[in-house]
Amino acid sequence: MNIALRILLFLIVFFLLTILMQIGGLVLLLALPVFSLIQKKYHKRITRNILNIAGFLIIYFIASIIIVPKLAPIFGRVPLPAFRNSNVQPLTLWTCILNRHYVKPELFEVVKDTAKKMSEKDAEVIIAYLDANFPFKDGFPLFPHLSHSDGEKLDLAFFYKSEINKKVVYGKASSWIGYGVFEGPQPGEYDAPRNCIAKGYWQYDMAKYLVWNPRRLELDEDKTKEMIRYFTANKSINKVFLEPHLKSRLNLKSEKIRFHGCRAVRHDDHVHIQL
Ligand SMILES: [Zn+2]
Repeated sequence: MNIALRILLFLIVFFLLTILMQIGGLVLLLALPVFSLIQKKYHKRITRNILNIAGFLIIYFIASIIIVPKLAPIFGRVPLPAFRNSNVQPLTLWTCILNRHYVKPELFEVVKDTAKKMSEKDAEVIIAYLDANFPFKDGFPLFPHLSHSDGEKLDLAFFYKSEINKKVVYGKASSWIGYGVFEGPQPGEYDAPRNCIAKGYWQYDMAKYLVWNPRRLELDEDKTKEMIRYFTANKSINKVFLEPHLKSRLNLKSEKIRFHGCRAVRHDDHVHIQL
């Protein structure tokens, strides 16, 4: 491969790793001496490629597990719990692997407090979070959520129950990533998605392309409503984004629950909270 093409390829990978996982591009730079060592020692291309990827992953995981959580508090952010021994968990571990689970301590307190209150009714309860913020630097957006750039924003999965026995299913959503399977408007309900798309905001329901094999789960309206009510009652929370038809279906009255506008994406697959 000629040198110009190699540099272009490197820049594309650097850019993609940076927008997807923030420190990914930096780790790629840190791994350059390792790559050149591998280049000198091994001649088979396949061996070099495998060792390069392994080298990148080892540095990335060491940085993510040991270094990033220690540095993030300097930027006023803490990681949300990553593992399955808490009432607050990621819906998918990928959120944590990609370092997309950092928030301001005040927002962590809100989520912990809500989980504690909900666990008084049911000790097994799990609040499943989705994308939060990156660990570093205000103004650095968490692609594709442009507003998740200051540690003050967090998306959460709704609660779901089994279609068969109607029992709540904790830690799971219809979509394995939490986005893209909508609880759409029913006949007679206000249809903001249709209005936004008719106005030309084609991106409004793009999340549907993220999921091709949804689980057959039913929205647990009572639990979802209970969680949102605790959030709106918390004085630290300023705004909650939820699709208007769900706000009225769940009979939620708080003025903190706003319509996010047609420039955003649908919020009937998850709920967004912010300080
Ligand atoms: Zn959000």
